[in-house]
Amino acid sequence: MKVGVIGTGHVGLPTAATLAHIGHDVTATDADQEKIEVLRRGGMPFFEPALEDLVRGEVEVGRLRFTADPAEALTDARVAFVCVGTPPRSSGEANLIAVERSAEIVARHAAGPTVVVEKSTVPAGTAARVAEILARHRSDGALTVACNPEFLREGSAVEDSLRPDRILVGSDSEEALAVMRELFAPLVRDDTRWIETDLHTAELAKHANNAFLALKVSFANAMARMAEAAGADVEAVTEVMGADPRIGRAHLSAGLGYGGSCFPKDLLAFERLAARLGYDFPLLREVARINEEALDAAFRKVEAALWNLEGKRVALLGLAFKPGTDDVRYSPALGLADRLLEAGTIVVGYDPQAGPNAKAELPGLEIAEDPYEAVSGADAAVVCTEWEQVAGLDLGRVRAAMRLPVIVDGRNVFDPGEMARHGFTYLPTGRPPVRP
Ligand code: NAD
Repeated sequence: MKVGVIGTGHVGLPTAATLAHIGHDVTATDADQEKIEVLRRGGMPFFEPALEDLVRGEVEVGRLRFTADPAEALTDARVAFVCVGTPPRSSGEANLIAVERSAEIVARHAAGPTVVVEKSTVPAGTAARVAEILARHRSDGALTVACNPEFLREGSAVEDSLRPDRILVGSDSEEALAVMRELFAPLVRDDTRWIETDLHTAELAKHANNAFLALKVSFANAMARMAEAAGADVEAVTEVMGADPRIGRAHLSAGLGYGGSCFPKDLLAFERLAARLGYDFPLLREVARINEEALDAAFRKVEAALWNLEGKRVALLGLAFKPGTDDVRYSPALGLADRLLEAGTIVVGYDPQAGPNAKAELPGLEIAEDPYEAVSGADAAVVCTEWEQVAGLDLGRVRAAMRLPVIVDGRNVFDPGEMARHGFTYLPTGRPPVRP
């Protein structure tokens, strides 16, 4: 099938490459000409494991192309995917201007019949607006709307795209649903859930999904605060809870809190949507508050260990919002760095992938090339991202390099017994501290 993809970011690029991989003829476009240039030259605009090889392979066999000209991507597309950003406005509502522009671009260029697919995460009701724009430009019914929310995770986007646990397609058009079934057929395995709904249910389900995952993180963080006060171990608490199949262990993780380009903004947008629909949903505000509290708790541990922060040197181990990506959007590590810098601390960060992005976001942050350089002469180190390069550090070397052996573990990657043996003051999250 001929497929056009608008937006070649963290969702658009894996989507385009995956659809090419299963045999479709895909042309992707982006408003960011530089991004398209990088892709056309065979480069990658961001780091995502295994994506470069997948993209290169599909370009080589001619199933995947990149163009700065939307007409080229959309004219004869049977399906047009909208994968553009939906960032938060200052009010918390999703900014949907890129979705609106994408709908206009499709309406202008697609010859039809074309299914216009919302892949971006959008508030329930957006599809009706998209349909209005399409109808304004084209009254012949050649353009139909579907919603196919994306559930991939950065860091495993390729695996998630090639082997999705579920595929959700919402549409009010039988014809559009049939086209989507045919499009995705090669991806549907025995254990893949294929779910069809109406448009607004699909939109709502994606927001509900992310809000619930954020809730799990915040629940674990509230448990961490309680465990710290009670002298208990949150890791054991969440292990017990997670063993209950009705709860599940995934995302029940105490730490610095969630970040990234999705959970924070989607939670806010969902709360704003609820308010607009006339439903007060304070639980969502509470989830966001507990998330901020988690970062604050880590900051206070550093402060309590070092007393005055001015002129002290603090190493941040991991800067990306999670391992496997160079994405620092709403990264808790940068939130913490910001607060430490504001308090007059010298902050040195290390990350296997995200150093340059972190520096661009927070110029006051020093970037070290390797973790031992980062902790060298440090008064404290904070584990911010659970990269294996961080969890697998040679603790003896770290201990020898630091000025003061204080480690705040914002991701509970280290074993308290090991930390005691190496003589660290070890301050994990929701677990009893270790002091020499
Ligand atoms: P991104 O910022 O990585 O990519 C968005 C791309 O869209 C950018 O390359 C940008 O230049 C392009 N763009 C913006 N306006 C455009 C326009 N008018 N025309 C053409 N291109 C335009 O964002 P992302 O992480 O890929 O997220 C895209 C959407 O998918 C968001 O709604 C997000 O919430 C959702 N989503 C993201 C993830 C994730 O893990 N990143 C997962 C699921 C869903």
